[in-house]
Amino acid sequence: MKYGFATRAIHVGQEPDPLTGAVVVPLYQTSTYEQEAVGKHRGYEYSRTQNPTRAAWEKNLTALEEGTAAFAFASGMAAIDAVLRLLPPGSHVLAAEDMYGGTYRLFQQVLAQTGLEFQYVDMTDLDTVRMAVRSDTRMIYAETPTNPTMRLTDIAAVSEIAHQHQLLFVVDNTFMSPYFQRPLTLGADIVIHSVTKYLGGHSDLVGGAVVVKDSAIAEQLQFLQNAVGAVPSPFDCWLCLRSVKTLAVRMEQHQKNALAIAQLCEEHPAVHIVYYPGLPSHPQHTLAQRQMTGFGGMLSIDLGSKEKAFAFIDRLQIFTLAESLGGVESLVCYPVTMTHASVPESLRRRLGITEGLVRLSCGIEDTADLVADVQQALDAVA
Ligand SMILES: *Cc1c(COP(=O)(O)O)cnc(C)c1O
Repeated sequence: MKYGFATRAIHVGQEPDPLTGAVVVPLYQTSTYEQEAVGKHRGYEYSRTQNPTRAAWEKNLTALEEGTAAFAFASGMAAIDAVLRLLPPGSHVLAAEDMYGGTYRLFQQVLAQTGLEFQYVDMTDLDTVRMAVRSDTRMIYAETPTNPTMRLTDIAAVSEIAHQHQLLFVVDNTFMSPYFQRPLTLGADIVIHSVTKYLGGHSDLVGGAVVVKDSAIAEQLQFLQNAVGAVPSPFDCWLCLRSVKTLAVRMEQHQKNALAIAQLCEEHPAVHIVYYPGLPSHPQHTLAQRQMTGFGGMLSIDLGSKEKAFAFIDRLQIFTLAESLGGVESLVCYPVTMTHASVPESLRRRLGITEGLVRLSCGIEDTADLVADVQQALDAVA
């Protein structure tokens, strides 16, 4: 780890091509490779198993998360599925109660049928986590910060609980990206990304990734990646290599815009609550400062009612109404019906996912333009 983050993002795995000197890793859009004689090849046999463009992307991601190995998948969901397949049937998994809806659906409607048992707990409360560990628990699974109310899990503290009981601790690091948070360095065993979001960063691909520290787990994941086969195309890996070169500058601008909007919202009479870990008023701001090197580009605001939320969304000019997040363009979403419709109403209420809640994914447009856009939309609903 001799070099800084941006230097690693631009160079690791992306050395000039030894054959031609091309400074960009070539797109090896091939499914198979010549063998000189039966079984005699140059390390590449078939592109589900190995592909040079994918290998470059995985090497790069390994360096960014400070792990020992990374595995690229066709989507974030495929990455999560691969990680849960590490567990034997009958395993008990402690998962955060406020996870991405797709993860909850995968756990409850797919993996629970195959003999895994999931229990959902408040990961912000360490005593709750400690008390919930059973003799058959094998994994703790968390996202931090969470979507959409930006609650934090103390990665170092939960790692300690996990390791006291020989459990794997998995962190979905999609919201912060490795630029602002590196869970493996804080004690987590496995990091997951929806590459679709900040790593891809341009709303033009769907992808996933897993990064690990332990070489035995790496070997199992490599086996699963090939045996199950949910791999990304060489072209998508090539797009990721291109995207990641600007991750550091993009994240800085995402954060600058989110902070400016969070500060505006905190002062504005139309806003009841602002959820952004970069504000000193965030209940876990100190933890955020301790385990993250920035606060990211996501924030949510509560406008008090569905009517006001809809009017605000309607008035926005630059923010596009859409699911997803982490792209260069600013997006707005209405969690109750768009991303969190499947969450039971009682849990939604407890988590603060109200009818007045609006989530903003701040892009990298000019700060003044985004602030002016949010200001005029808030003024209209005040
Ligand atoms: C989007 C998302 C996922 C799922 O990833 P896909 O690439 O859509 O399959 C998982 N976790 C989080 C936190 C996400 O935001």
